[in-house]
Amino acid sequence: MNYFLFLNHPKGEEVYKVNEENEKAARKYFKTIPVLETEIEIQGKKYKSIIDYEMFDKPSNFDCFNCNINCCADSPSKLSKKTKKFLFDNMDEFEEITSNIEITEEMGYESSDILENLKNEKESREIISEIEEETEMCFYAYKKDNKTTLCSIHSICLGKGMTGKEISDIKPLVCSLWPIEILSEDDNSLLYITLPDDFTNSFTIEDYYQIPCLNEEFVSSALFRRKNPEGFSEEYKPVIETYKDTIINCLGKNVYEKIKEKLKE
Ligand code: SF4
Ligand code: SF4
Repeated sequence: MNYFLFLNHPKGEEVYKVNEENEKAARKYFKTIPVLETEIEIQGKKYKSIIDYEMFDKPSNFDCFNCNINCCADSPSKLSKKTKKFLFDNMDEFEEITSNIEITEEMGYESSDILENLKNEKESREIISEIEEETEMCFYAYKKDNKTTLCSIHSICLGKGMTGKEISDIKPLVCSLWPIEILSEDDNSLLYITLPDDFTNSFTIEDYYQIPCLNEEFVSSALFRRKNPEGFSEEYKPVIETYKDTIINCLGKNVYEKIKEKLKE
């Protein structure tokens, strides 16, 4: 079993492979909960899936502009051809907001070295990793001000007036869907879709206890407020509402409607 959204992770199997204990827990979990079985379409490919639809009723609050949790700490995916082309087509803007080429030169490399890394990420991405370590941020992340971390790919898309669907097609899938969790059989013949939760599904790759957008209790904790003294301003609402567009754009309208219908039942 794999963590489907991490299949393109730069560290490979070490990250995307589900360990034996988690696989056992996941299989047991999906046998005991009410599920929605349906076909979903992800980036033009159809998959059979089992959806833990009740999770989509969970309170959530994606108040990212008010959040100081560094959820873009390193790149969770090698870029697709399409995203790479988009970045190269918009290199000046990318450099203006991230200063990645300037940082490369300050580190003693040539600017061509980082462009080569970006082009041939599969062969070598050493400088990209080095920059991520130095900045403590994903290579594509940047700071809007002294606190808010944003995604340069997303910001460039927004600046071009692209629609939510177009942005979802450019951004790495894992970033658009985070923190939705998808596990898959090794041959991708079946996907299992859920969300990180309190102890009930501790097999997820993401740690529920550190996800403020899903864990209201964490947001009221002293630990969270130490970094985010103003807290979140938005209200917590079911994931199916807050992530309506994301679900439609990444998994299909049909899936959104089926989950919604199941939740009404
Ligand atoms: S942790 Fe959640 S609320 Fe905070 S920036 Fe990341 S997605 Fe947004
Ligand atoms: S959303 Fe953008 S900045 Fe954040 S991890 Fe993904 S690619 Fe990196």
